Amino acid sequence: MNVIIFGPPGAGKGTQALNIVKKLDLYQVSTGDLLRNEVKNKTQIGKDIKNIISKGDFATDEIVNELIKKIVYDPHKKNRLIFDGYPRSVSQAKKLEELLKISKQKIDFIFFLNVNKDTIIKRIEKRKILEKRADDNLLTILKRYDTYMETTKPVLDFYSKKMNFYEINGDGKIEDISSKIEQILSV
Ligand code: AMP
Repeated sequence: MNVIIFGPPGAGKGTQALNIVKKLDLYQVSTGDLLRNEVKNKTQIGKDIKNIISKGDFATDEIVNELIKKIVYDPHKKNRLIFDGYPRSVSQAKKLEELLKISKQKIDFIFFLNVNKDTIIKRIEKRKILEKRADDNLLTILKRYDTYMETTKPVLDFYSKKMNFYEINGDGKIEDISSKIEQILSV
């Protein structure tokens, strides 16, 4: 089974993805984590994107596609993927469809966690203290939200037409949101 968890920054995508990973033995693919890893390991990609990420801008599709390709084509991860924070643009979504088609896979469930802006700001302010991420400050949060509205929202239009698209209210308690998702996945 392959799953996409979609939604604005701070929607709880990572938290919900982790819960599904535990239940279904899936492999969590967070492009945010992959990119932060590149920065941490001081690779060439990491050097190129460090400032981009800390300002809340997007890494280029070229970089993201390259990182994703390795994972989608990995036979050990085939049909066990849960994408969190990816795709973030229509061109990334189209690229993913292409990679999945070539490797004879498909997306089985698309979850959209719908959360309002005030909740997002409160959650990220809290996460800033817990995770100490360089991009969790108010200015960057607002920038990331605007980028989401401009670039990522069209991805929502792209996916919302699909049969296996589910919109979930992400404003509630973590456990309640998890159980709604589990119900749909029948786990
Ligand atoms: P996240 O951990 O998903 O909130 O991502 C943190 C940051 O990494 C984002 O604000 C972007 O700068 C970058 N990033 C993560 N995923 C992508 C993606 N799919 N495409 C472009 N940039 C990304």
